[in-house]
Amino acid sequence: MAMTVTDTLGRPLRDLRISVTDRCNFRCVYCMPKEVFGRDYQFLERAELLTFEEIERLARIFVADHGARKIRLTGGEPLVRRELERLVEMLARIPGLEDLAMTTNGSALARKAQPLRAAGLRRITVSLDSLDDDVFAAINDVRFPVDRVLAGIEAAAAAGLAPIKINMVVKRGVNEHSVVPMARHFRDSGHTVRFIEYMDVGHTNGWRMDDVVPAAEIIAMIDAELPLEPVAPNYPGEVVERWRYRDGSGEIGVIASVTRPFCGGCTRARLSAEGKLFTCLFAITGHDLRALLRGGASDAEISAAIGGIWRVRDDRYSELRTAETAALPKVEMSYLGG
Ligand code: SAM
Repeated sequence: MAMTVTDTLGRPLRDLRISVTDRCNFRCVYCMPKEVFGRDYQFLERAELLTFEEIERLARIFVADHGARKIRLTGGEPLVRRELERLVEMLARIPGLEDLAMTTNGSALARKAQPLRAAGLRRITVSLDSLDDDVFAAINDVRFPVDRVLAGIEAAAAAGLAPIKINMVVKRGVNEHSVVPMARHFRDSGHTVRFIEYMDVGHTNGWRMDDVVPAAEIIAMIDAELPLEPVAPNYPGEVVERWRYRDGSGEIGVIASVTRPFCGGCTRARLSAEGKLFTCLFAITGHDLRALLRGGASDAEISAAIGGIWRVRDDRYSELRTAETAALPKVEMSYLGG
């Protein structure tokens, strides 16, 4: 039976988010703007990335010794890492792991959904910020068409990865007009759209509070056209606030990380592609687990290090956020993953 480690605020470690690469084939303007992530940008070298074997070893320790129950693969874009199915297969075999999911931009899903499912992936979240090709192209900045993401979502559903979650980040003046069409499109699909407040992650996106469309406003926009009612949380501290259509045609969620922060229930540990452990999305530095892995540490030593890091965790950035904290240096979302 796994020990359960808790931090200084009594929060257990339940979710492990693993970034498998810092690279992405999109250049979303709010995440990896071309001016910063251009031709000369120094991404991590291959040798710096954790190998699949190293990732699996750490994941086993998190599950066996520290109570992690769910793993989500992210990036960068996880599907740009070659043979990711092999990692999925290795992780899916870990005893005690209850859920294995992935967050992707969906660009390679039409091809990859079936092999990922066969390898043991259980669920998938696809990011899609608009159904309007012009709006979407202006966001992804590589002219990626909406149709190909929709085809990826179809393929994922056909492969048995349903119900699928669709994540839409809403940024003022950029895609708030896409909120209602997005809700309408997926209303009868069985998939759940989750509207996400634009956050001050990283420092390349020039975030300002004025850019945030509050969750309450998003709900009001949808409710005016497609009446909604609240749904009780699945469990206390659930990150997403759930709503359903009054006519019974489905459910949506909002993630109000800026206007209604949920640090008190945050059970997430984040592992970067180069093996640094972060205890908050808004952290400035991570703890180097790769040095332990490659320095010959035993499983017991690595486990003790992870426990020690979690036990002193006191992060609650979103509850403390102000205009001043937004300007502080932070790691990039593309490095750490969503
Ligand atoms: N490439 C994958 C994808 O597109 O889903 C996984 C990584 S991406 C960094 C994860 C999620 O973070 C995406 O849904 C993206 O829209 C979201 N994201 C990036 N920057 C954000 C920000 N400033 N505020 C809120 N969400 C953000």
